[in-house]
Amino acid sequence: MFKGVEADQAMNSDRQTPPRAFIFTFGCQMNEYDSDRMARILAERGFESTRDLKRADLIVLNTCSIREKAVQKVMSFLGRLRPLKEDRPSLIIVVTGCVAQQEGEKLLKQAPYLDLVLGTHALHRLPELLDWIMTDRRPVCHTDFEYHLPPPPPLTSGDVRVRAYLTVMQGCDNFCAYCVVPYVRGREISRPPEEILTEARDLVAHGVREIILLGQNVNSYGRGLEPPVTFADLLTRAADLPGLKRIRFTTSHPKDLSPGLISAMAELGPVCEHVHLPVQSGSSRILKAMSRGYTRADYLDRVEALRRACPDVALTTDIIVGFPGETEADFQESLDLVSRVRFDGMFSFKYSDRPITRAARFEPKVDETVKSRRLAELQALQKSITLELNQALIGQRVQVLVEGRGKRYPDQLTSRTRGNKVVNFNGPDELIGCLAYPLIVQAWPNSLVGLLPDAESDPAPRKAGRPSS
Ligand code: SF4
Repeated sequence: MFKGVEADQAMNSDRQTPPRAFIFTFGCQMNEYDSDRMARILAERGFESTRDLKRADLIVLNTCSIREKAVQKVMSFLGRLRPLKEDRPSLIIVVTGCVAQQEGEKLLKQAPYLDLVLGTHALHRLPELLDWIMTDRRPVCHTDFEYHLPPPPPLTSGDVRVRAYLTVMQGCDNFCAYCVVPYVRGREISRPPEEILTEARDLVAHGVREIILLGQNVNSYGRGLEPPVTFADLLTRAADLPGLKRIRFTTSHPKDLSPGLISAMAELGPVCEHVHLPVQSGSSRILKAMSRGYTRADYLDRVEALRRACPDVALTTDIIVGFPGETEADFQESLDLVSRVRFDGMFSFKYSDRPITRAARFEPKVDETVKSRRLAELQALQKSITLELNQALIGQRVQVLVEGRGKRYPDQLTSRTRGNKVVNFNGPDELIGCLAYPLIVQAWPNSLVGLLPDAESDPAPRKAGRPSS
């Protein structure tokens, strides 16, 4: 096994300081969690983290292949690293994440100065593969799917923060026509609940007050586990953890939004009333072509059931415009669905082909200028709805969890409502990590401004009679 002291000697025999690792993360929350996991694994092996590329002994690029031109972005970043490697041959460069899984050996051919291509299931193998590279000095590609997720090492006291991600499952069995996830993250696999709860307890013990449970299809959590467990069961157990004020989860698939999960959201105090529920299109014809497994009517029914049980729920979504074959009538159905549901927020994208997906072969493709026009129209509609919903909060006191000082305005505290809206307000440092109830006095599309009448906090999460958010 790779030992920190040996690493130091091998990488920098002329100094006594620990080796330094630079981890750069592209993409989603799951990648952020994986980067955090690698940082902990490396810390356990004696690495310090650095944000200075030039001082790094190890550089890890944790990549994402969801967005367009993902491979080109990684290659361009690698090109910037080449001179560093030429100056210092002991530097180790690793590419991991979805691009590593998708491209495999090809990356080593295109960037011969790269040392390690590490697949999405192999993060726990990082130390032994580094050890191998340092003794053998030959590049390695490890992209096997292992279907076993060992727990990450425990947190160290330096990792304290208010909110944290916790991956409860990975992979996906849905094979939506446009998506690379099942190919680069593998088939769906859930972690045992005991392991998740142990990790959650560790996070709370280190000051975390809000946990965001992650999975590509998080609400199908539990399939294949013995004894059987559902996502609602997991939420129920997590909600009992002392000291944990809030739980969120993402991303939910509309077809797996079960009555049990809706009830859990309505009844469990720490579970926030926010669901990210990607609809992708308002047209049943396009949803079928996408292989989404629900119709427009199914989606609207689920939203209605959710709002009946949980009237305060904030809904956000993803929509793709210009999927192959999308007509003007299909697009109008997407606009109509957005107007009906009135989402609190939306991520919207122009469709573009992803290699290895079925949709890449679908015809007819929609013209780029048409896609751009549709995207602009959709975004303008959503922006006006978001602003209206935010403005409706002016004059209300909302429950927020205070996360820390704002990056742009450090004199203000930054916080989130239960519905995941950002609220900035003036207040003392003592409120960080606490629930507070500012009065909303201003609303923008991306944030709210609050006023704290008096410094107050509430350590107890509650459901009944909470201020709306
Ligand atoms: S459910 Fe989500 S992750 Fe799974 S294939 Fe569809 S879009 Fe991709």
